[in-house]
Amino acid sequence: MADGLGPAALETLTAALGQHGWIDGASDDAAPYLTDWSQAYTGTAIGVARPSSVEEVQVVMRWAAAEGVAVVPQGGHTGLVGGGTPFSDGRKIVLSLKRMNQVRKIDPANYTMIAEAGVILQDAQKAALDADRFFPLSLGAEGSCTVGGNISTNAGGVNVIRYGNARALVLGLEVVLPDGEIWNGLRTLRKDNTGYHLKEMFMGAEGTLGVITAAALKLFPKPTATASAWVATPSVATALELLDVARAETGDAVETSELITRSLVETVVAKMDDVRDPLPDDSPFYVLMEVSTTRRGDNGQSPVDVLEGALAQAFERGLATDALIAQSEQQRADFWKIREQAPEALQRIGPRISWDVTLPLSALPDFYAAAEKKMAEVAPHVGFYGFGHMGDGNLHYLATSDDIKNLKEVLDRTLYDLVMSYDGSFSAEHGIGQKRTTELERYKSPVEYKLMQALKAAIDPDGRMNPGKVLS
Ligand SMILES: Cc1cc2nc3c(=O)[nH]c(=O)nc-3n(C[C@H](O)[C@H](O)[C@H](O)COP(=O)(O)OP(=O)(O)OC[C@H]3O[C@@H](n4cnc5c(N)ncnc54)[C@H](O)[C@@H]3O)c2cc1C
Repeated sequence: MADGLGPAALETLTAALGQHGWIDGASDDAAPYLTDWSQAYTGTAIGVARPSSVEEVQVVMRWAAAEGVAVVPQGGHTGLVGGGTPFSDGRKIVLSLKRMNQVRKIDPANYTMIAEAGVILQDAQKAALDADRFFPLSLGAEGSCTVGGNISTNAGGVNVIRYGNARALVLGLEVVLPDGEIWNGLRTLRKDNTGYHLKEMFMGAEGTLGVITAAALKLFPKPTATASAWVATPSVATALELLDVARAETGDAVETSELITRSLVETVVAKMDDVRDPLPDDSPFYVLMEVSTTRRGDNGQSPVDVLEGALAQAFERGLATDALIAQSEQQRADFWKIREQAPEALQRIGPRISWDVTLPLSALPDFYAAAEKKMAEVAPHVGFYGFGHMGDGNLHYLATSDDIKNLKEVLDRTLYDLVMSYDGSFSAEHGIGQKRTTELERYKSPVEYKLMQALKAAIDPDGRMNPGKVLS
């Protein structure tokens, strides 16, 4: 008996899913499905269903509806807000999409790809490149996270400034609803004004409305050349002006603009192996910037030329104090290592709490200064790091100290109140999950929160889809 379920009930499901389709929740094999990547969240489940087709997902959902069992959809389990991790109470299963990992179709002429939810992001990128196309979504966890997870969290990452976040890259979805009905909305149209766009509801819903089983994704021309620069800049304001100059001078070809602080560089170099400090100087801030072109043939300036032009202007205007343009793939990889290894390096410092906020670009410099001041007033002994996808107004903050857990409530409130006073958002790209449900209720307007509750009640009236996530 598992959580009040008779053996016969489970047998129906396991027989339908086959030997590879079910893991008992008490077995060691279930452990990775019950604890998230950051090891911050852990829970229990009757078991892990691992369907390999949309029809099998339907079987699982019909079974769960009949038995009154809750369902926690899961992709790569790299989410940072506990959305894919079950709680420790209640009757539920994890529904892993990892075995639904086929790219069903690529249509290069239509610039589209239909990928199943469990396709690893890196595999989707590679499939596009193999077809001479580009799928731009890119993030540190791309070797493990899945297309379904990316869409369900509306993931951002490092290319948003040019291509948008996951939501902007989806043309259609296939979804299995809580009662097991399949909605095939896998349209590959750029224009389709035929009433409500239902796909929008499931994107960013973090598995609380249905199970995404496949997506029609937008592709782009393949970049033919990329230039990467590591630029020392005196302040957040100059970093933003630098971005402005680069966008204008490169014909808006900036793909990445990441803000990195001196203290973060030093932490990554100290905590991680084989990391080189590109510019060991005293600049308080750096920007990792990339520019790419999709032009074929040698018919104009290369991205290196245009980036050099932009940087020359930046030096003249005091926006850059030093800069390196990568001369090789190795040097480019060295720049990226610092940015990509930042989350893991910070994990190694010790107890920590993290935030993921966005601000209007114009408010970033004032906000950054105010946040440093306020956080230092509240907790002067705490190490406070602010860095991230500056081009999107997105900052990741991290605070570390031995007593940090005791300070969580006051630091959360201090930072989030400040963010909201600048018309920002308390969750830029990681979502709500189980981590930020209190903030959602506090900071969304009552009418917005009520509409979200109404949507949930209409689509999942029994509240069995990922209960307790997003809406508490
Ligand atoms: C090192 C590192 C770097 C990261 N960098 C970034 C970054 O730059 N930008 C960013 O946005 N995020 C980043 N993340 C967070 C994370 O990778 C993303 O949120 C990612 O989109 C999660 O995908 P996943 O497949 O792992 O989803 P999971 O963690 O498995 O699930 C995430 C949420 O989606 C739901 N879900 C998953 N699959 C489905 C489905 N098929 N149908 C319905 N619901 C589903 C789950 O229930 C859960 O609520 C990073 C994480 C790590 C560990």
